[in-house]
Amino acid sequence: MINLLKHILSRSLAAVIFFGLSLPVFADGIHDHESLVKRYFPTMTELGELSGEPLAAEVKQNGKLLGYVYYTTDAIKIPAYSGKPIRTLVGFDMQGKIRGVNIVHHEEPILVVGITEADLQTFIDQYIGKSVFDKIKIGGRDRDGYKSIDAITGATITVMVLNASITRSIQLILKSRNLTPKSLAIAGPTDNPAAVDVEPTDQPVWIYVWKERLFQIAILCSGLFLLLLILVFQDWLVQHPVLYTRLRNGFLIWTVLFIGWYSLAQLSVVNVLTFVGAIFHGFSWDNFLIDPMMFLLWGFVAMTLLLWGRGVYCGWLCPFGALQELLFRLGQRFKIKSYEFPDGVHQRLWAIKYLILLALFGISLQSLVYAERLAEVEPFKTAITLRFMREWGFVLYALGLLVVGLFVRKFYCRYLCPLGAALTYPARFRIFDWLRRRKECGRPCQICAEECEVQAIRPTGEINANECHYCLDCQVTYFNDRKCPPVVEKRRKRERFSKDAPSKPVPVEFQATLKQPD
Ligand code: SF4
Ligand code: SF4
Repeated sequence: MINLLKHILSRSLAAVIFFGLSLPVFADGIHDHESLVKRYFPTMTELGELSGEPLAAEVKQNGKLLGYVYYTTDAIKIPAYSGKPIRTLVGFDMQGKIRGVNIVHHEEPILVVGITEADLQTFIDQYIGKSVFDKIKIGGRDRDGYKSIDAITGATITVMVLNASITRSIQLILKSRNLTPKSLAIAGPTDNPAAVDVEPTDQPVWIYVWKERLFQIAILCSGLFLLLLILVFQDWLVQHPVLYTRLRNGFLIWTVLFIGWYSLAQLSVVNVLTFVGAIFHGFSWDNFLIDPMMFLLWGFVAMTLLLWGRGVYCGWLCPFGALQELLFRLGQRFKIKSYEFPDGVHQRLWAIKYLILLALFGISLQSLVYAERLAEVEPFKTAITLRFMREWGFVLYALGLLVVGLFVRKFYCRYLCPLGAALTYPARFRIFDWLRRRKECGRPCQICAEECEVQAIRPTGEINANECHYCLDCQVTYFNDRKCPPVVEKRRKRERFSKDAPSKPVPVEFQATLKQPD
């Protein structure tokens, strides 16, 4: 134990040193990227030094000023998905046209895996030829004085931050050098001074992102509110099994389609590692507010973890978990025979996800980027974020897990998911214990234990809250007077009694016992 603590402390120290050393210090100078600048300005003969505030370098041809080049991070540092800004080289000419944009440094996890550099280049190439005074927005069509460019599926936040960094830094460079549409001799709609003001540069990007996503936010909040109602009125709902089953199926479909494939808001163990990294590296709310869907979901999950445990997320809000469950139910309709491991094996297999989590955590202390690559053990990016449009190896892995899940219900969740494992730790402090049990549960009755979707009920009848997915199936059974033996017995007694009863009035005190809660 002492050795383990020593090991954790030494890793933590290494992490502090690592993160301390890896603060974003950009040592490259503009001449390191002269070949890129040459591509922007093929007739260039001189490239000046970075100077002024914000830093920018003049590009000249035989003494004549052709334009400027600069790094976005020298003008404005907007933290992206990784919590660190994206360093981009931008060049524009004296006709007010953007001549070139290239990312020279980034630590975006979404770009480390899944999205290729070519995708990214295709995205930023859309700026070339645009006016420095254009208002540029991501997605949709050109309207209200805005020029729109296409986003990259699965990297929405990154591209929004890129867009804000590029457009805002251009405005700062123009302002600092007194470059106006008039001085750059630009004709047309940009003569309108209002068009010059792209966006207030002091407004955090996350506010802009939240405004852009108001509709999505409203739908997400409505869904989360509905889930809260389900939790609060769970005892009543589970006594109406048809309504409850429809509600649950509908909710799971919404989770896959809306939270998953539409909003790409699949939480991941990478978020947990990034959060831990942010604590070492300098916590900033801006980094977490940048994605409203993820922020709201994490906020909701944090609250429900402390109230009901990890099951609320895993049983209701995880798109991959919901996809597995829906496919399993579909498989059951096609009479696919499911398989359960014997309890002893099942309990040993649980350990795998905790080991994966510990390994990822240890590696993240050394290298967050490497840990993020290994976090591909999660099939989320493939199945949800990239909607299976990815290299075949990843697709095969995700599909393989879904196929196994047809036979062993929620196989991935039970045995492999490091996020599920991470959520069990704070859930140990949960306040509510609303899942009801009877003294007969486990001794001898095993009905709920056999039905539980993740084998979270011990043979002795107790629910293992660390593993429970809060599907409420056992609660439906708990109140079912055709299934739960003690309640069946009570119903039978009641029926026998009411058959015998007509001739005899029911004693008042006996009526009271019948109405007593179980
Ligand atoms: S265990 Fe993992 S995959 Fe399963 S529902 Fe929970 S977070 Fe999702
Ligand atoms: S059946 Fe009961 S114990 Fe099992 S996951 Fe659902 S709520 Fe939890």
